[in-house]
Amino acid sequence: MPTNRRFALRQRPEGRIDDETFELVEEELPEIGDGEALIRTEWISLDPTNRTWIEDMPGYLPPVQIGETMRALGLGRVVESKHPDYEEGQLVQGLTGWTENFIASDAAPLQRVPEIEGVSPSLYLGALGMTGLTAWVGMKEIGKPKEGETVVVSAAAGAVGSVAGQLAKRDGARVVGIAGGPEKGAILTEKLGFDAAVDHRAEDWREQLKAATPDGIDVDFENVGGELMDAIFARLNLHARVALCGLISGYNEGPAPVAGSRDAFGSLLIKRATLQGFIVLDHYDKLARVSAQLAEWIADGSLEPLETVVEGFEQLPSAINMLFDGANVGKLVVRIGD
Ligand code: NDP
Repeated sequence: MPTNRRFALRQRPEGRIDDETFELVEEELPEIGDGEALIRTEWISLDPTNRTWIEDMPGYLPPVQIGETMRALGLGRVVESKHPDYEEGQLVQGLTGWTENFIASDAAPLQRVPEIEGVSPSLYLGALGMTGLTAWVGMKEIGKPKEGETVVVSAAAGAVGSVAGQLAKRDGARVVGIAGGPEKGAILTEKLGFDAAVDHRAEDWREQLKAATPDGIDVDFENVGGELMDAIFARLNLHARVALCGLISGYNEGPAPVAGSRDAFGSLLIKRATLQGFIVLDHYDKLARVSAQLAEWIADGSLEPLETVVEGFEQLPSAINMLFDGANVGKLVVRIGD
C-alpha cells in the first residue's frame, strides 16, 4: 500500500520552532474518490508568516490546530485525477501544506501553473507568485515612489524585499536596502543595483542608515518592525508613505506587543506620514496580471529573482528557522523529490 508522510503540529513553540514543534506522521495514502485529484508535492514555500499561523492568537487566518498538517503554500503535479478540472501531469499550486501528497477537490482547490521552458516552477512560489505580488502591492500601490525619492526596504535581500527594491529602482527611486551582513549588502548593491546597503547586524547600523539616507526617507517598505522600524520612522520626510508588510523581528515572540514605540508614532504624526498595512491574500485577483509582467522582466533580464533551495521533505522543520537566522537569500523553498 503506498504511504504518505506529512508534518503535523505537535505543540505550539515558545520562541523558536524546535524538534518538539512538529511530528512526522506516516500513514496509508487513501484512494481518491470521484471529484478528487491526487497531487504529488514537488516544492514547498517557507514563509515568515508560517510562524504566526501556529500561534494561538487571532490572525488573518485561523491558527493551525494541534494534530493538523502544517499549513503552507506548495506546488505539485497531478498524478491521478477523478476531477474534470485536473489533468494528469498538470502543475498546480495552493495551500498544500507540509505533505508529500495532497488530495485536491472543490473543497480544497489548487490553481494551475503554466510550465515555461527554462523557468523553475519554484518561481511560482516566489517572484512569480504571492511573493512577487506582495512586493508589487506594497511598492506600486502603497509606497508609490517617485523619481529621485529615497526608498528604504528592510529584509531587503529576502524574497519580498529583493523584488520590492528592484521595483522601486525601475521607478527611478534611490533605493537603500537593509540586510544582515556584508555579503547580503554586496548582493543588493552589486547584483540588484540598489544605491546603498545598511548592515543591521553591524554595531554602527544607525550611523549607516543615516549616511545612506542623507535626504531622509520618502517610502519605507517595512518587513521587520522593532527598533529598525523606529529608526527608519525617525528619518521619514514630510508626507512619507509606509507600506507595512511584515514585522518579522517579533514573530518568535508570540502574542506580546513588539513594535511601535511611542517615538515611532510620534514620528508618523509629526511627518504627517501615511501608513498602510496590507495582506497579499486580499489582492489575489491581480496575481495573473502581475505575474505576467514580472515574468516579462525576468525573461528580459531586468528583474533578478533570488532563491535559496533546501533539498528534502525532512528538512522542513529546521529550514523554517533559516528565515529568522537570515540564512536565506531571496525566496526560501524546499524541494520534495523530483
Ligand atoms: P525573507 O525571505 O525576507 O526572509 C526573512 C528575512 O528577514 C531573513 O532572511 C532575515 O534577513 C530577515 N530578518 C529575520 N529576522 C530579522 C530581525 N530580527 N531583524 C532584521 N531582519 C530580520 O521573507 P519574506 O520575503 O517571505 O518576508 C519578508 C516580510 O514580509 C516578513 O515580515 C513577512 O511576514 C512579510 N510578508 C507579508 C505579506 C503580506 O501579505 N503582508 C506576504 C509575504 C510576506 P537578514 O539576513 O537581512 O537579517
